[in-house]
Amino acid sequence: MRKFMIAIVALVCLLPTAGRADEYRVGRATGDITLPVWGIQMLGYVHPQQVGKGLRQRLYARTFVIADAKDQTRLAYATCEVAFVTHTVKLAVLERLREKLGDRYTHANLVLAGTHTHGAPGGYHHHLSMSVLGGDFFEQAFDALVDGIAESVIAADADLKPGRILFAQGDVKDANANRSSIAYRNNPDEEQAKYQGAVDTNMTLLKFVRDDGPIGMLNWFAVHPTSVNYFYKLTVSDNKGYAAYVVEQKHAARHGGPGEFVAAFANTNCGDATPNLNLDATGPGKTDLESCTIIGSRQAEEAERLFDSVTEELSGPIDVRHTFIDFSHVVVGDEFTGAGEQRTCPSAWGYAFAAGSDAEGGGHSLFKEGMTKTDPAIDSLIRLALPNVKATPELVECQKPKAVLIASGLARPPMHEQVLPLAVARIGQLVLVIGPGEFTTMSGRRFRAAVGKELGVDPKYVVIAGYSNDFAGYVTTWHEYQLQQYEGGHTLFGPWTEAAYRQEFVRLAHALKTGESVSTSVEPTDMRTLPHRKVALDGPDERTPPDARFGDVVTAPRDKYTTGETVSVTFWTGSPVNEYDRRDKFVAVERLAQAPDTWEVVREDFDWDTAAEWERVSGTKPKAARPPRSGILDLAPPRYTTKPDPFQVTITWGAGADVAPGKYRIVHYGRNKSGGKVERFTAHSPAFEIAAP
Ligand SMILES: [Zn+2]
Repeated sequence: MRKFMIAIVALVCLLPTAGRADEYRVGRATGDITLPVWGIQMLGYVHPQQVGKGLRQRLYARTFVIADAKDQTRLAYATCEVAFVTHTVKLAVLERLREKLGDRYTHANLVLAGTHTHGAPGGYHHHLSMSVLGGDFFEQAFDALVDGIAESVIAADADLKPGRILFAQGDVKDANANRSSIAYRNNPDEEQAKYQGAVDTNMTLLKFVRDDGPIGMLNWFAVHPTSVNYFYKLTVSDNKGYAAYVVEQKHAARHGGPGEFVAAFANTNCGDATPNLNLDATGPGKTDLESCTIIGSRQAEEAERLFDSVTEELSGPIDVRHTFIDFSHVVVGDEFTGAGEQRTCPSAWGYAFAAGSDAEGGGHSLFKEGMTKTDPAIDSLIRLALPNVKATPELVECQKPKAVLIASGLARPPMHEQVLPLAVARIGQLVLVIGPGEFTTMSGRRFRAAVGKELGVDPKYVVIAGYSNDFAGYVTTWHEYQLQQYEGGHTLFGPWTEAAYRQEFVRLAHALKTGESVSTSVEPTDMRTLPHRKVALDGPDERTPPDARFGDVVTAPRDKYTTGETVSVTFWTGSPVNEYDRRDKFVAVERLAQAPDTWEVVREDFDWDTAAEWERVSGTKPKAARPPRSGILDLAPPRYTTKPDPFQVTITWGAGADVAPGKYRIVHYGRNKSGGKVERFTAHSPAFEIAAP
């Protein structure tokens, strides 16, 4: 019987196939990773005033799993709408995957890439919570991120079916600018002459197609998701999240969150690429939200164009090499430095780091980009705040010309992870260079050229997957580093950081080419094993609102609006983060489908045009916002505190020109706590009419 079967299989293999054989197996899925929307500092700007107050867009992890036709090698790529993931997040995701899928996924074949939105809450980052910058650590935020990512990988893995991957590249016009061109222009002239412009404008796109049609797209384009600035306090996935939303809505069979069709807008070497085209934290729109939609639309339009016109197909094996490297002392060869053998240094933040990037709104007022001299007064204040962190003369020398502000790598335990994950993967012609840095334009170009050369591949097929598997600050070239702009001040491991990455990426590419395995003797720290101050999100029972019940309308919408106007309603409610669940819904807009009382949902809280903002109310009216604090070491957000005060939530809906005239109402899914128990309720606004203008 067995022999007979083999004979049949052999025969089938010899038969000419109708049409083309499917080269790969592909699967896709989405996981909701909406982090607690209230009370946690946003991660990105790490601005003390930017503490979450609500929700504009839900956050998602969008995963594609790719396997070869024989299913011998699988690679999962999860694009996560957060600033970045951490090694400890990845460890926890791998543990969840192991429970369901055994050893199918490892550090090597699972890529967790942050989109780098600056509008998502933090609170899950162990290292930052140990520094002066990051604020509190919330186990619930960490778990939400881990659960949502793991859910998307498990579902994408289960979704694997034979399919094809198509590859296309094009230019996204007027969607990024170099925010640090003074540093870029310091690169050698002959190197600059090889490239057009000071930012990469190309988008690389993969289109996934199965027998029953396309199932999604994954693309990379270099731009910071910083269209929305730090004074905005609602969760938002910024220009890349907006682009994903627009494309997914267009392909969806019906109105709903991400599902059937998955569009992932991933980031690449955007270290010095800003969407703020005026280079002063504004532009190209009149408001941040308008800028976000403009930059998002430009990415979405090019992605759609490439998706529709793509013809080249990926073909060939899938393979990956992954390693961990201790960046506190990499010996970098002359081949990569052009200046003899050099070394990287234990990590340090420079003065220029604290200055922030002017193009994104700047940082602490005491600091300026380009600072290369320390100030004894500032240094003694830092020592006061961080008595156990002291730069040694060797570190100061090694990091030059950076003026060392915080010797994060010399703290015990270090305030930055020193051991970093690096990988190079191949899917047919496509090569992914995977690392945890914010690589500048020229750093990325150097990696593409060097890895392409090693593999004998045109650099256009080499894509940098930045913000992947951990976060390790910026990576500038040696020449850029000399000017100590913000990006240089945030290049953690000294002037040879970029050369060290390039050396190690080439080493991985070499192993990929020769089929050798790579080994490593170091591993990053599992931060869960270190003691941590964990902060609970849940607060006490809320007091009953004065002369009202939870769910009552405080301010009703008007009776009538015309399309193009913004509808607004305020309800009494409780804390949105009591008994927090990442899948909690807060908002819907319903349209009267049939009188007297059949309503259909037309908007939900993942929609761009809805927003919900919570305000804790003490006494009878909302407390005035606290004046900005201005202490010299005012780097961290205020401590998270819970109070028995009730909340008011204001829900707005920008009813655009595409909204059909009719009767509508706004729904709030709320909760309040009473007797230590969370009670959930559904509240409706009075109905209102929307008419054509
Ligand atoms: Zn950044």
